[in-house]
Amino acid sequence: MQHIVIIGNGIAGVTTARHIRKKTDYRITLISPENDYFFSRTALMYVYMGHMKFEHIQPYENWFWKKNRIELVNGYVTKVDPPNKKLLLKDGRIIAYDSLVIATGSKSNKFGWPGQDLQGVQGLYSKQDLDLLEVTAPDKEVCKRAVVVGGGLIGIELVEMLRSRKIPVTFLVREKSFWNGVLPQGESQMINEHILEHHIDLRLATNLKEILSDENGRAKAVLTDKGETIACNLVGLTAGVSPNIDFLKDSGIELGKGVKVNRFLETNIENIYAIGDCAEQHQAIGNRKPVEAVWYTGRMMGEALAQTICGKKTAYDPGHWFNSAKFFDIEYQTYGWVFSEADKQEFEHHFHWRHPNENICLTLAFHSKSKQFLGINTFGIRMRHELFDRWLNEERNIGYVLEHLKDANFDPEFYRHHEEDIIRQYNSEFGANIKARKKSWQRIFNNA
Ligand SMILES: Cc1cc2nc3c(=O)[nH]c(=O)nc-3n(C[C@H](O)[C@H](O)[C@H](O)COP(=O)(O)OP(=O)(O)OC[C@H]3O[C@@H](n4cnc5c(N)ncnc54)[C@H](O)[C@@H]3O)c2cc1C
Repeated sequence: MQHIVIIGNGIAGVTTARHIRKKTDYRITLISPENDYFFSRTALMYVYMGHMKFEHIQPYENWFWKKNRIELVNGYVTKVDPPNKKLLLKDGRIIAYDSLVIATGSKSNKFGWPGQDLQGVQGLYSKQDLDLLEVTAPDKEVCKRAVVVGGGLIGIELVEMLRSRKIPVTFLVREKSFWNGVLPQGESQMINEHILEHHIDLRLATNLKEILSDENGRAKAVLTDKGETIACNLVGLTAGVSPNIDFLKDSGIELGKGVKVNRFLETNIENIYAIGDCAEQHQAIGNRKPVEAVWYTGRMMGEALAQTICGKKTAYDPGHWFNSAKFFDIEYQTYGWVFSEADKQEFEHHFHWRHPNENICLTLAFHSKSKQFLGINTFGIRMRHELFDRWLNEERNIGYVLEHLKDANFDPEFYRHHEEDIIRQYNSEFGANIKARKKSWQRIFNNA
């Protein structure tokens, strides 16, 4: 019987295992040193914030794995030996495979800062990071101040977590405005303001230079490139993540930033595949990055690969870009492409609307000549994914999208809706005469 071995029990590895089991009787082994059972990494923050217990973020009951004959191995793979189709574990165990799936995710970036390995310095990625945080920053008496370095999605999550326990936080952000490599300026500015509303000591355009140690090898302060010393008990390093592939260095598997794969998620070695955060596409798919550290793409890769392993060769096709996140109280959604000022292409026009006194805004991107709708970012308004996906497929223009924006709104009926204001501003800025159409459930569900 075929033995499929999967390194990594995150969303990518687990999805592959589940879908192979649905279709075949192959022997399946899942390996990870992090936690015996799969958990939702995206929900780690809610455990620290007290909204959930750790067992609540495990999507499957503990008996699920045995019942589905998915063997779980708690171990860390130190070496892959493709000629002999074997893996070596740190504790000396050897595991043979017929097909191997590498799904080892990411690791937090460290850029060689002096003091980055001191006690009290950590990233936010794994369950172990969460456990460590409970030790270093259980409350504001033990942790008098934290410094979080790196203004991305994980950075702002860590800041929110620490604030939920009233720990004072200094937030060092390299860019001159929060996440402005991704967000257009209006949105980035709104998040800057929202961070300040939460009493965070936000330092824009500020870099970490060094982490200073006390006499016991613990972080006691950071030094910034502005020459300031900030005393702290915790330094959170959240300056991005990169593929977790160091253990593959001498394996003969082609590596770039991640494990190089084609659209079928195949590596250069037969019967070895890579998926999830650790995979790097040879050819980027559309505007997507060759490495994507996103939950749903890991799941999609796992689904596609399971088909291939079960005999139905299937390319990974993620469709239109979408994503969502939360910045404290503000929900963010994006569909299609809305680039930041730095990445914006010449033909890309933006229309930005912001509510005069609430943290609600949106940006619509469209082609300046053809007026084709390219993408939308919304903050504080929930939108329907399926509808934007359809409009992108149908290559609708900006006028159509605005006219039907009420259809896309997913906020409950009793929420205040803003489509009329949005369209009024668009008409005035672009000399247009668009009128909002009444919401139509028939259009929403029947594609009428
Ligand atoms: C705090 C946080 C919040 C996030 N929030 C979001 C969000 O809101 N939305 C979103 O889309 N994405 C989010 N992400 C990103 C998302 O969680 C990842 O894209 C996703 O978990 C990647 O899944 P994966 O299966 O590729 O890898 P992982 O989930 O990283 O799983 C890989 C597993 O492999 C194991 N492993 C690694 N090396 C070895 C080895 N040598 N031997 C054995 N096992 C090994 C690891 O221990 C780990 O358990 C977040 C990430 C973090 C850290």
